Amino acid sequence: MKLDLTGKVALVTGGTRGIGHDICRVLGDAGAKVALCSRDAGKAQEVAAAFGRGAKGYGCDVAVAAQVETLADAVEKDFGQIDVLVNNAGFTKDNLLFRIAEADWDSVIDTNLKGPFLCTKAFAPGMIKKGWGRVINLGSVLGVIALPGRAPYASSKAGIINLTRVLALEWAGTGVTANAICPGPFATEMNRALLDDPVKYQEFVKNIPMGRWGELEELAGAVVFLASDASSFMTGSSVFVDGGWTAR
Ligand code: NDP
Repeated sequence: MKLDLTGKVALVTGGTRGIGHDICRVLGDAGAKVALCSRDAGKAQEVAAAFGRGAKGYGCDVAVAAQVETLADAVEKDFGQIDVLVNNAGFTKDNLLFRIAEADWDSVIDTNLKGPFLCTKAFAPGMIKKGWGRVINLGSVLGVIALPGRAPYASSKAGIINLTRVLALEWAGTGVTANAICPGPFATEMNRALLDDPVKYQEFVKNIPMGRWGELEELAGAVVFLASDASSFMTGSSVFVDGGWTAR
């Protein structure tokens, strides 16, 4: 098994908390040097300093092309070309369709779908030039199943799954792969409304054959596998880490 990431540089968008934070930890533990970003530059720097091992934090809104370009310049200056890009930054604004404002729709799609497009466009050319790279996109079970009130989020995550497949086809044979990790529910800030409502929380649990939400460390194996040489024959795939939800 080739799971060692020593000598690799990884950039994790939205690495300051939740799933992205744990992905930074896991990639660092596997030997990678880690760069992370969020919209809050101070928080990103603070989190990177706490990780140690040369990690660096940057302020960047992944939905804004100019900020992604600035991020790419800064990361290249600090680390050279990156090897692993984890398009993790994401959020949701939930409401029934007729109550969703245009600006809310745009903000979710811009962060969750356009963000990965912009970051991939900025960072993948360096990987292709080197002949080795890994793009890992955070999808969701909501990329393949639907729930009422989740139109922008579910649409963005369905888009991510197919964006991943297109990238795989465009890059096949270059040494650069694109895969998606699609989690079921994990207890993060994004799910605060569900976590604070015991009735809604239990409704969610009913969807999960394993009868519980996931623990962050249960994503670690998929992350390291997809970031490493061990996944060299895998591209365009979506790995569901969901307690069996999508097996139904
Ligand atoms: P959190 O809200 O805990 O963390 C989101 C991270 O993304 C933060 O670091 C946040 O920092 C950053 N972020 C948000 N918007 C932007 C932006 N426009 N540009 C840069 N950074 C941004 O979310 P989770 O950890 O729960 O989610 C991480 C990913 O996993 C998302 O893509 C989500 O859709 C996906 N996912 C999560 C699931 C879950 O159950 N938690 C289930 C399935 C998928 P800041 O706000 O400071 O910018």
